[in-house]
Amino acid sequence: MEIQIGDILKLKKPHPCGSKEWEVLRIGADFRLKCLGCGHQIMTPRRQVEKNVKEVIQSNKAAGETRN
Ligand SMILES: [Zn+2]
Repeated sequence: MEIQIGDILKLKKPHPCGSKEWEVLRIGADFRLKCLGCGHQIMTPRRQVEKNVKEVIQSNKAAGETRN
């Protein structure tokens, strides 16, 4: 699974605020995700993210072209 910083992850389980969409802020052994519904940030292990993600929305694909 290809996940990059800035991508939006749609998870299977909704956050208590009702949103299922999370923005990827940091990637490593743990991911830092920000809930797009309420702005809450969490750190969660990579394998758990990969288990729970339903869809990856690559929001920065176009912007990434100019990065190098
Ligand atoms: Zn939330």
